[in-house]
Order: sequence, then structure tokens, then C-alpha cells
Amino acid sequence: MEVVHDLGRWRDAARATRARERTVGLVPTMGALHAGHLSLVRAARERGDVVFLTIFVNPRQFGDAADLARYPRTLDVDQRLAESAGVDVLVVPTLDEMWPDYPRDTMTSVHVAGLGDVLEGEGRPGHFTGVASVVAKLFAVTGPCRAYFGQKDFQQVAVVRQMVRDLALPVEVLDAPVVRDADGLALSSRNERLSSEGRANALALSRAIHAAARTRGPASVLRDVLRAELARAKVEVAYAEIVDPMTLRPLGDDARGVARALVAGVVEGVRLIDNGPVTLDQGE
Ligand code: AMP
Repeated sequence: MEVVHDLGRWRDAARATRARERTVGLVPTMGALHAGHLSLVRAARERGDVVFLTIFVNPRQFGDAADLARYPRTLDVDQRLAESAGVDVLVVPTLDEMWPDYPRDTMTSVHVAGLGDVLEGEGRPGHFTGVASVVAKLFAVTGPCRAYFGQKDFQQVAVVRQMVRDLALPVEVLDAPVVRDADGLALSSRNERLSSEGRANALALSRAIHAAARTRGPASVLRDVLRAELARAKVEVAYAEIVDPMTLRPLGDDARGVARALVAGVVEGVRLIDNGPVTLDQGE
């Protein structure tokens, strides 16, 4: 596994891969790698891609300085995990290379209106502008590639797909299912900050998603199922919605077919999200 820190070598490694008629499979992460990240590496390898995994804790997508400071950084362990998962090129750019002018506000931003402003975007203003801006830069340096994202961050995938479409970026965006612990909790680098009691409360998120998936009925009934499940635990609910999987707009009771349940809440000061597919019908 090659480890690169500077943009020039990263760009050259991607170019050299394409010159060998191979496809670059890009897996963007913020590190503290776990099985969720590694499932994206596996998806890229299964397609035969040369896997470039990036680790960059992007300050521009954190609204809260304390959240950024607390974000886990475990580069040595990450390097071993990446190597044994079969990553070909580990890209760890420096802040200075990624955002030479940070924290001045004279930088270019990519704002995906609508999709980036609802749900997580409403609770975390500017978050998806930070995400879209950094992903645009990752794509610009990497060049034509396939990029792999987890459905764990369902809204993020929608925002990135919209950006790729609007800017005609030479990137194919692929997504992979949410990876969960045996108890159902969606894996997240932030889970490490939960106490055992906090973790027990956090399980309400995945319970809510599973309960909604098992329920047959219109959107309002499924939404009530989500909220009832969250209300039973110590979760400060940010949102619990049944939305159109493409527009992410909340659905009314006239909607039928496949929809998405999305929840977010704070447990012990840690913001957690989860989501899953649901089916809307008239009910019994
Ligand atoms: P992060 O390091 O949290 O920014 O995540 C990097 C990528 O891994 C994103 O595409 C996430 O959606 C994905 N990811 C994180 N957690 C999971 C999970 N539990 N299951 C599937 N993908 C995940």
C-alpha cells in the first residue's frame, strides 16, 4: 500500500492507474476506520477497482469547534486496517494542502440547495456545503473515478449525486448498505464517545428504523412509529421523518411505495443518525 500526503503525488497515482486502463475506486473517509468504511473498500475491490482511500477530517463541515476537536484521530490503526483491507493507495492530505486559506472565508464553496438544506442541513447549517466542497476537491484531484459512499449518510449521498449531475463531474457515485453492530446500532466513529448507558439509549434509533420498516401504513403512521420508539429512550430527537428517497421531502399520506425513514438525535452530547427503507400503503 502506497501512502501519499501531497496532492501532486495523489493526482499522479490516479493518472497512472487510468493509464494502466484500470479504474480508480475512491473511498472518502474522515478516518477512525471501522467495518462500515471497510465495506466500501470491499465494494470497490469486488468491482476490480484500484482502491484509493482518503482520510481527511474536514474542518469545513463541522459547525461546532468542540465536535471537531473531539473527532477521533487514529491514523496508525487506520493505516493497518486499510492495508489489510486491500487499499492500494492511502491518501492522507494535510489541512494546508486541502484548504491553504483555511480558516479565512475567501474560499470557494459548493452549495447544493434544497437537498443540502433540509434534515441534517437544517440542524447543522453549512454542514453539507462543507461536505460538497471537500468532496468536489477530492474528485478534482482524483479525476475520473468511481466513488463509494455509505447509505449510513443517506442525505450525503443524495447531495453528492446532485453535485456530480449539476457540475458534470466525471465520477460515478455508488452506495453501499448501512453496516451495523450485532445489536443493530449503525457503526459510526462517534459511537466510541458513548457510555454503555448512552449506547443502550442510542439503540432506539435503529429500533425506530426497524419498527417503521415492519409497519404497513401511510407516512404519518410510520412517522408516529419512529417518534414513539425514540420517545421511549433518552434521545434528544432532532428529526424523525418519512421522506421521498430522491427529493428528501417529507411525504403525505397520499404517497405509496418505497420511501425512506430518517432519524437523528443527540445522546450524551453525541449526534447520531440512522435510516432505512420503508414501504407506504393504505394499512390494514
Ligand atoms: P465518515 O468517515 O464518517 O465521513 O464516513 C466515510 C464513509 O463511510 C461515508 O461514505 C459513510 O457513509 C460511510 N460509512 C460510515 N459509517 C458507515 C456504516 N455504518 N455503514 C456503511 N457506511 C458507513
